[in-house]
Order: sequence, then C-alpha cells, then structure tokens
Amino acid sequence: MSAEPTLGAAPAREQMNIVFVGHVDHGKSTLVGRILADTGSIDPAKIAKVRRICEQQGKHFEYSFLLDALEAEQAQGITIDAARCFFRSDRRDYLIIDAPGHIEFLKNMITGAARAEAAVLLIDAAEGVRENSRRHGYLLSLLGIRQIVVVVNKMDRVDFDPDVFARIRATYTEFLEQLDVHPRAFVPVSALEGDFVVERTGRAAWYDGPTVLEAVDGFAKAPRPEDRALRLPVQDVYRFNRLGDTRRIIAGRITQGTLRVGDAIRFLPSGKETRVATLEAFSTAPQTQASAGQSVGLTMTEEIYVQRGDMLCTPDAAPRVSDRIRANLFWLGRQPLRRGRTYKLKLATYSGLCELERIIEVIDASALAPATHHDRVERHEVAEVVLRLRKPLACDLSHEAEDTARFVLVDAYDLAGGGIVRDVLDAAGDDGTARWTTEIGAIDRPLREAKHGHRAFLAVLHDDLDQNGQALAGALEESLWSSHHAVFRLNLALDDLHVLGGGRLELKPISFARTAALLNAGQAVIVTVPWAEAFTHHEVLDVPGLDAVPRFQIRFQSGGGTSDDADWILDPGADPRALHDEVKQKLALHLRRP
Ligand code: GDP
Repeated sequence: MSAEPTLGAAPAREQMNIVFVGHVDHGKSTLVGRILADTGSIDPAKIAKVRRICEQQGKHFEYSFLLDALEAEQAQGITIDAARCFFRSDRRDYLIIDAPGHIEFLKNMITGAARAEAAVLLIDAAEGVRENSRRHGYLLSLLGIRQIVVVVNKMDRVDFDPDVFARIRATYTEFLEQLDVHPRAFVPVSALEGDFVVERTGRAAWYDGPTVLEAVDGFAKAPRPEDRALRLPVQDVYRFNRLGDTRRIIAGRITQGTLRVGDAIRFLPSGKETRVATLEAFSTAPQTQASAGQSVGLTMTEEIYVQRGDMLCTPDAAPRVSDRIRANLFWLGRQPLRRGRTYKLKLATYSGLCELERIIEVIDASALAPATHHDRVERHEVAEVVLRLRKPLACDLSHEAEDTARFVLVDAYDLAGGGIVRDVLDAAGDDGTARWTTEIGAIDRPLREAKHGHRAFLAVLHDDLDQNGQALAGALEESLWSSHHAVFRLNLALDDLHVLGGGRLELKPISFARTAALLNAGQAVIVTVPWAEAFTHHEVLDVPGLDAVPRFQIRFQSGGGTSDDADWILDPGADPRALHDEVKQKLALHLRRP
C-alpha cells in the first residue's frame, strides 16, 4: 500500500481523502480555494502573487484562481505535495480527490484508482435543489460514501435567509433519505466571502451548527489498515523440497490487519483452521509479526490444503463467503454486459467464472440518470447487479474493507469492468433462485456440534476400485462411532452422477443437498468417491451454503508425497490400521469440542 505523502515532515498526522461534488458554477472551486487560503494550507505569498497578477490583468480576484495556480505549478513539476491539493486542519491532513467528471470519478472510485472516504456536496442557495444535486446524492450512494456534509453555498446572494436554508435542507434531506444517505450537517456558506467555511462570522446568528471545516473534521477516520481485521489473500503455495519436509509456505500480501506467529488462522472458503508456525519474510530474517502492506510467507502448525485465491483471516473476524454477490459496477467493455455470457471475476487473488444473474438498475454515468434498458449494461454505464459465481468467493463488503471488496470483470481477455461488493446473497440454484433453503430451526449446527462435542466436518476420500478407501472409510466410521462421535459415511454411487458430454461427470445437486443436510445436523461426514480421477477438489468439496464447515480432501498415491489437489496423501500399500490411525490423528483437531 503506497502511503500518500503528508504535508511537511510530520508523518504521524492522520490523512483523509475527500471529494467535493456539485453542479458546475455552484462554487466548488471557490470553496476549495477558500479552504486552502483560510486554513493556511497555501503559502500567503502565493495568494498575494495571484492577487497581483489579477490586478495587473484588470481581473477580479477569485479564490478558484488559487487552484488554477496550483495546477499550473503541477504542470511544471514543482511543489508536488501542494499541487496535489492538500489542506490541513488541527485534526488531520486532507487530500482532495479530483472529480473532473462523473465518468472519470466513478471509474476511479470503482476501480480503486482513487478512494474518497468522505464527500462535501455543494448546492447553490439561490438555485436550490436541482436535478443535478439529486444526481450527486445518487452518485455518493452508488459508491457507498457515507460521510457527507452538504454545503448550501452563495448564502450571501439570499442575504443568509434562514427560510431559504431550511427549505433546501428539508427538500434535500428527504431525497437523500430515500437513498439511505444521511448527511452529517448542512452548512450555510458564502465561499466567496468566507462565512462558515473556516471562520464563523456574525452573518447567520440563527445558525449554531459547525463550519465546513468543523464538519469535515467531525468525520470518523476508518481504523488504520494494520488495526483492522486480518486479510491475507493467498497468492501462492510453495513447498519445501527437502526430503521428508512436507511443509508448505503460504505466500501473499497482507491487505489489512496484523499477523503474528502463534495466531489462530482460518482459510476461506474452506473454513479450515490452524495456527501460524513461522513467518518468513522475503528479504529479511524470520519475523514474529507482519502487518498491512507487507508480503509474507508463513508456515502452519498443521499441513492443510490451501490454494491461491483462498482468503486467510482470523476465526473471530472472517470475511463473507458466497457464490452470489450484489455489486455496483462500472462497465468499460466494448461488448455490453449481458446474461448468458461468462465472465471472469478477479478479487484480490481469487479468480473464477461468473455470470450476470440480474440487473437491478442501470445508470448512464455521464448523465447520472437511470437508463431505459434493463437487459444489458453498456460501456460507461454504472449498474447495480447480482452476479453468480461458479465457486464460492471470500470477500468483504465495500463499506467494511477496500482491497477485498473490489473486483474486476474480464470478458474474454479484456478488462471489461470494475466493481465493489455491496452485499453477499444466499447461494443460488441454476435458475437463479436460492438453492439450499432447507429451513434450519432454532437448533442449529453450532448447537448440535456443542452437544456432539466436536465440529462438523467433511472428509472426502478419493478412491479407486483397487484401493482400500471404502475399507478405510468404514473403519473410520466405526472407530469414531465407538468413541462417541456423530459420524456418517456416504459412498457416492452412479445415481449421484450426471454424465455430461465428453465423458465428464458431474455430481447431482441432490448429492450435495444430502451432504449439506448431514453437515447441518452437526455430523462428521466421510464421503468416498470411487472415481479418483474424475473430480477435482472443488467439485466434491464445495457444498454450498456451509462455508464455516472444514473440508478435507484425501487421495491415495503410491509412495505418499504431496499433491496440489489434496490435503493428505495416503499410501495405498500401507497397513489399513496404520492408515486409520493416520487419518484419525489428522482429524484430531476437529474432533475436539468446538
Ligand atoms: P464551480 O464551477 O463549482 O467550481 O464554481 P466556481 O467556484 O468557479 O464559482 C462559480 C461562480 O460562482 C464564480 O463566479 C464565483 O465567484 C461564484 N461564487 C462562488 N461562491 C460564491 C458565493 O459564496 N457567493 C457568491 N455570490 N458567488 C459565489
């Protein structure tokens, strides 16, 4: 994460990214210029110089000229920091996110090029709430920006009439409430003359609210990245290749949070848990902790199967998992986004196929007005949509985290859109309706697990006809049963399969439903699959709707070793008793009380 430069030399100061939006001519540049001047964020000598130039050219001085002057400097490559348009209060530094046009702003916000945490929305007091003011409210709601202050500008033109202000506030509040946007404050302002921007003047004795600066200083800053819930999207899994050393190194960049040796960790969507054994840094000696922005390699106390795209978190603050998401997206593709076509969705290190299930709303990004069509999303349109993924995704919602809530869509080989996850939905069936809607009563899985004294889990044994997977599964079931575990063994049969074209096999939804029901009953479920080569990891393990349940994949392979497609490899030639002991020991953690 590249730290933004801060003003001066004090690196400890907090920084907030803020955007100013408003209809052209409502006074955006004047307000920004006035804030820069009145907070002392721009050198007074520079202001004097701009005033002198105005005089020389016979022009009336405008605060908006200060921005032009800064831009000119930026073009010449001098004083980069100031040119990036910072202002500072006693509380923190602000970076103004440039919003030259809706398209650019939406694109930048949604693709992550720029990130505004808060917004100042301008309305011209003399003009009142216009269609454009509504669109700006809509824009902020679309982007999920929740910290907003509304500036009713040019109050000097209505003699600071409290009724004008009250009317605008009432009309706009009513509109914003429909969008679930709740402004922190409405401030009556004259940006031109400097009332209630930074200075509190006597021109509106009736107003006892904050100035613009006080209102933005009142915005809450999200916790520092290192203090948030841990997120480490798994980038790669490496193995030590020394003889007998089966350790895996999980590599990735911590997007937020802090990870320490000894911490309990969970991988999603699989739900597997273990602890951090060591933290290997790439360029320095092993560490005991690493934080947001750092790339790390970690080893685990137990070897569990993890793959690229998994999300590492702590068990107490896990992200969401689903195969259906509600998202706002910005479309850039030459071909419109449509139903029936497959796209690749990439979020952090996850990459998987998805389809458009439903368009909730399409907005023309330049006009910020609803489009008339609902069957597709054209280039430069913004849409609220439901996407259905082929495999479950671990992600956050856009107001909870940044890097793990933002995705891109790839159409064929082209980057075609960017979006933010607004919500996760229940798992979907092929017809787009919720799939595993079996009613679960008050006695839910965790309660049953507590009663059974162990967690539910799913162990899938990939067998071949000449191997002894069935025998092993039987032995496991019996020994777990006799040690008072709730256990159920399922041997998949031909009835569980669809045979697809090209000899490919697919498990029927009903076999997933059966497994899901058993897991919801808090059982340890052992499934044997007698066609070892026919299925990959995800095809058997991804029982939808049960994301918190640990799953394990076990394969037989002569000579043992490791595999990309299994948690554990068993030697088919080994003594059945030894195999049983080995698997039972590997499952031991999950056989303890939840
Ligand atoms: P922008 O297009 O939103 O950036 O608007 P500007 O800041 O360029 O202002 C547009 C015009 O409105 C300029 O002529 C400003 O002088 C004028 N203006 C801006 N703020 C005020 C104000 O508070 N009072 C009055 N009377 N005029 C203002």
